[in-house]
Amino acid sequence: MDLGLKGRVALVAAASKGLGRAVAKELAAEGTDLIICARTVEPLMKVKEDLERQWGIRVMARPTDVGDAVATEQLVQQGIAEFGRVDILVTNAGGPPPGPFEAHSLEVWRDAIRQNLESVLILVRQVLPGMKERRWGRILNITSMAVKQPVDNLILSNSVRAAVTGFARTLANEVASYGVTVNNVLPGFTLTERLEELAARSAAAEGVPEEEIFDRFRSQVPMVRIGEPREFAAVVAFLASDRASYVTGASIPVDGGWIKALY
Ligand code: NAP
Repeated sequence: MDLGLKGRVALVAAASKGLGRAVAKELAAEGTDLIICARTVEPLMKVKEDLERQWGIRVMARPTDVGDAVATEQLVQQGIAEFGRVDILVTNAGGPPPGPFEAHSLEVWRDAIRQNLESVLILVRQVLPGMKERRWGRILNITSMAVKQPVDNLILSNSVRAAVTGFARTLANEVASYGVTVNNVLPGFTLTERLEELAARSAAAEGVPEEEIFDRFRSQVPMVRIGEPREFAAVVAFLASDRASYVTGASIPVDGGWIKALY
């Protein structure tokens, strides 16, 4: 299937590791030029070099904390100056810390809101006018399975991602007639550093081996396994493509069947 992504320009936020990197790779393999960011320089530059070498596409990489509004605006401006436009936006950032309500100060809540909600608004504000003008655009937010079924001990993530979902569902209708689609993609348990970190924290808190925590994750999933980042990225690439032209306002899980609700 030709996804029609060759020559498109995509901005993939938080793309030096994990899900963001897998999405960047999948789009690169389809011939999409890329604007990528993360906070730490070295792994980011390695992704840029690997993708340019392997796929012969152009990659602009700029170290950016998406929780920093000014830096995020500059990232988009530099990307547009270099490539002329952004056709596809994939919003992403690190996950907020785990813990119950009483463990988090108001400042920690504000950090989560800045990193996981405000970053989406800032990125969308920058790219949407051009997408509307060209009457083609794809906005994809990486959120979480938690928006359908909140995950215990992740109150920050459960709350802030629900706000992104409401935003995206509303925006989808506002821009649908301009050929711009807005969707959320919901990772389930997927093998990345984030999941390893969550497992390590639970293991330390409970005094059990990490493998026991991973067994517990697997046992909740009908497929009885943890997902691979490339399985997630394949769905994002499809939604970013011409072939997904009639899908908008959706929140699509890639979770091996973890969410038990009807949707
Ligand atoms: P990961 O393996 O920890 O990778 C996170 C990536 O984001 C890294 O490249 C990191 O690089 C970058 N990053 C983190 N904070 C950033 C910021 N403020 N600004 C710019 N870049 C930032 O995480 P992941 O598993 O890919 O998760 C991606 C998102 O999906 C997270 O929000 C996570 O909570 C969510 N999620 C993941 C799973 C899962 O099982 N993996 C499940 C549900 C939801 P730097 O640290 O250098 O910035």
